[in-house]
Amino acid sequence: MKFCAHCGRELVDEAVVCPGCGCACNNSAIGNDKWNGLAIAGFVVSFFAATVGLILSIIGFRQCKKTNEKGRSLALAGIIISSVELGIYALSLLFYFVIFMLYALGLGYTLLPLL
Ligand SMILES: [Zn+2]
Repeated sequence: MKFCAHCGRELVDEAVVCPGCGCACNNSAIGNDKWNGLAIAGFVVSFFAATVGLILSIIGFRQCKKTNEKGRSLALAGIIISSVELGIYALSLLFYFVIFMLYALGLGYTLLPLL
């Protein structure tokens, strides 16, 4: 499956002319100069909301691969940034959970000064 470089419409692989805008599209998958909006959005959002940024970046990355649009490395950066953020969240959650469990078990006051 390929996409029209002019209007973005999905085309059958054999298509020579886009049925949507009438442009020649036999080479639309090569040298696409358009930026993928989702890849850009995913990269920007990954700084504020890791989960949303990760989802947008993954979709953007897959779209870039499919349509050969620009922004593939940007989407990849978004995926890495969001993953690192989510990893830090998970680790701090785990950390607080362990502290909480230590106190719940009555061991906090005994063990924490040793850490
Ligand atoms: Zn078209």
